[in-house]
Amino acid sequence: MRVTFLGTGAAMPTGERFQAGILVQDDGRTLLVDCGAGALQRLQQSGVGYEAVSTVLLTHHHLDHVADLLPLMKARWLAGEEHLEIVGPQGTKNLVDDLLEVYEYMQDKLEVQVREVVPGEFSVAGFEVSAYETRHSLPCLAYRFGDLFTFSGDSEAFAGLANFAEGSAILAHDCSFPDDVDVSNHPTPDALGRELAGREIGRVYLTHLYPHTEGRHEEMLESIGAHYDGDVRFAEDLKTVSIE
Ligand SMILES: [Zn+2]
Ligand SMILES: [Zn+2]
Repeated sequence: MRVTFLGTGAAMPTGERFQAGILVQDDGRTLLVDCGAGALQRLQQSGVGYEAVSTVLLTHHHLDHVADLLPLMKARWLAGEEHLEIVGPQGTKNLVDDLLEVYEYMQDKLEVQVREVVPGEFSVAGFEVSAYETRHSLPCLAYRFGDLFTFSGDSEAFAGLANFAEGSAILAHDCSFPDDVDVSNHPTPDALGRELAGREIGRVYLTHLYPHTEGRHEEMLESIGAHYDGDVRFAEDLKTVSIE
């Protein structure tokens, strides 16, 4: 499996990191998880291209995870592609219907199929996926791809999510802010380190990074490392990780 971080930023721009988007590829299958602003550009830069993405899996409906959905639809239509499947938590059908109602000229350009999923197991784009409800200000699902890859979506750090991720070769986890930012709905490095303590995870990549984290990477890693002694790194846009 190959996991490519398309966007490792969040709702406030850093100038370097685009909004949420992760490309998951395995054995000819391709899935885009989240589609924030910039995901479309990064898809093109990744060499995979938006033509190759016929399925998008959403963690939740915040703008920094869905902003490029309509631009992706338009680009696929212009490129002669005819189809897009959008899978996400409850409310995804309303979201897509409402977007297409505002942008009426995009209606009927593509055959858009929407599927809503709940916590548990399901199949998407040929991947077997488990979903787990996170702790966030909107309903949000974390996704796990077998023993290979888990993505937290947006979430506070908590034991249930750490349990869900345990045993993954790679975990990409929200780590939006350094410790001195008073935050809810996202973890601090200290809280994340405490919840990961003692877990068996191959490597953790920190993502969903606000501008507040710039220049603070070392101290954030130290804060996590005070509790969790595993391999933790910062994700970067267009970084690809191969997972055996
Ligand atoms: Zn969010
Ligand atoms: Zn977000």
